[in-house]
Amino acid sequence: MKKSLCFRGSAAKRAGRTPMADWCVFCDIGRRAPASTAVLLYSDDKVVAFQDINPSAFRHYLVIPVEHIPTVKNLQRTNEDHQLVSHMVKVGKDLLSRDAPKSEEHRFGFHQPPFNSIDHLHLHCLALPFIPSWRQVKYTPLGPLGGFIDAEKSNLTYKGTSTTINY
Ligand SMILES: [Zn+2]
Ligand SMILES: [Zn+2]
Repeated sequence: MKKSLCFRGSAAKRAGRTPMADWCVFCDIGRRAPASTAVLLYSDDKVVAFQDINPSAFRHYLVIPVEHIPTVKNLQRTNEDHQLVSHMVKVGKDLLSRDAPKSEEHRFGFHQPPFNSIDHLHLHCLALPFIPSWRQVKYTPLGPLGGFIDAEKSNLTYKGTSTTINY
């Protein structure tokens, strides 16, 4: 019997999410495709972490889910997705505290569409300073305009302090 991949929710609710997309460079990394040359800093069955190819800070890593979730807009307010995002942040924190313990600030966040570069959810993990410093514009929350969402201050994780849902 064919096992449904959508056992966690209705197909409509999960629109845009697939176990993998053939054309997606981050899916290739997530499933360790032979063509992918990314060096993984961390991997488990849910997420992988690697360096941003165009780093904007002293350390700049990306943590992505193995599952193809296009953007933050495709996240649901479920335990499962809160756990996933919390896990992504935890992995990023562990890596930055290992590799950049003396950094002035660690920042974790997502770009909201249309500000995201690649349509596969990725958490930017930045150990500041920004290099060069003008790059910070891209990784600073712009309030109601959206742009960059600070993962720890959002309600995407369990520890979020914000009460407004803004994604
Ligand atoms: Zn993908
Ligand atoms: Zn991005």
